[in-house]
Amino acid sequence: MELTQLDHLPDGLLEKPASALYQQLTGPTLIHLRGRRKHPLFVSVLQHGNEDTGWEAVRRLLKTQYSHSQLPRSLSLLIGNVEAARHRVRHLDHQPDFNRCWPAYQVRENRAADRHREDSEYHQMFRQVTDLMRERRAFASIDIHNNTGMNPHYAAVNRMDNRFFRLASLFSHTVIYFEIPRGVQSNAFADFCPAVTLECGQAGDVHGTDHSLAYLQTVLQQSRLSGDPLVRGELDLFHMVATVRVPDTLSFGFGSTDCQINFIPDLDHLNFCELEAGTLFGHCNGAGSGALHAVDLNDHPVTSDYFRFDQGRIRTRRRLMPSMLTIDKQVIRQDCLCYLMERLDTDALRRTAAEPLPEPTGQRV
Ligand SMILES: [Zn+2]
Repeated sequence: MELTQLDHLPDGLLEKPASALYQQLTGPTLIHLRGRRKHPLFVSVLQHGNEDTGWEAVRRLLKTQYSHSQLPRSLSLLIGNVEAARHRVRHLDHQPDFNRCWPAYQVRENRAADRHREDSEYHQMFRQVTDLMRERRAFASIDIHNNTGMNPHYAAVNRMDNRFFRLASLFSHTVIYFEIPRGVQSNAFADFCPAVTLECGQAGDVHGTDHSLAYLQTVLQQSRLSGDPLVRGELDLFHMVATVRVPDTLSFGFGSTDCQINFIPDLDHLNFCELEAGTLFGHCNGAGSGALHAVDLNDHPVTSDYFRFDQGRIRTRRRLMPSMLTIDKQVIRQDCLCYLMERLDTDALRRTAAEPLPEPTGQRV
């Protein structure tokens, strides 16, 4: 897996939709474009081939805003899985998920199981990209994605640092801190510059493109990202605490009383709502406390911390916010019912924050 590096945009590239990029690019391509400020904004698109919002935003940005004028800041653009984009899939069968192959910043003492997987040609390529951008003293890093289901746009970070929060809050009021899954791009870059992952709703939705285009313009024009604490109300910070699954042995449905678990019909409308304790998820016909199975980040069972099962009802036990809730039964069987998140107190974070990221001289250039 060879990385291609270019110092210009190939003619006609901006005319191509994601599915046609393969006609001009042989694979993952890193394109460096000069701007007034030297230290580049790194933007990653199409790590997942069927998530084209990032590419649509970038090509509109470069075509309409900067075709005749200089970029306010240099831009290093990574176009990821060109082959998967051709076939409009997340990744091809012979490929790994690109956004699980980046070097880890916070988990250097990886478990042995993680370590032996880390030397595929993909891992080597993404380590190369990371090293190149560290050398170029990237100003900030933005990785653009789409997701499925009824989820709002949001930014996610992997480091408790005000400059990361600042970068994220320019995109959304709701910000998620996450450690799982590992091997993601934003985590690799968190070692040397503020980095965010953007979730821009469903692919093909023009609001996602508009929003990320406006965001890229805003970030390109920042001379620095302040490390000052954000004032109360500037962002709502959440972290993931659990994954919830439905046991394979139980039948389930949405508004169907003949199943062992009968979830409320519009369960997915609870995504990204901060729910009070006691919120109804559904009814269990005899399944009792085994109706759901929640595990924490270390795979320890935590069902009873988050759910109550009494009088045949499934209710939340404490204040929490679900995400990725879906009513697609196949997705629930293959993956999970949802993730649970809890609010983090940003005032407390400010007092307990880890040592700050060293401010590179490039931040003000
Ligand atoms: Zn993605």
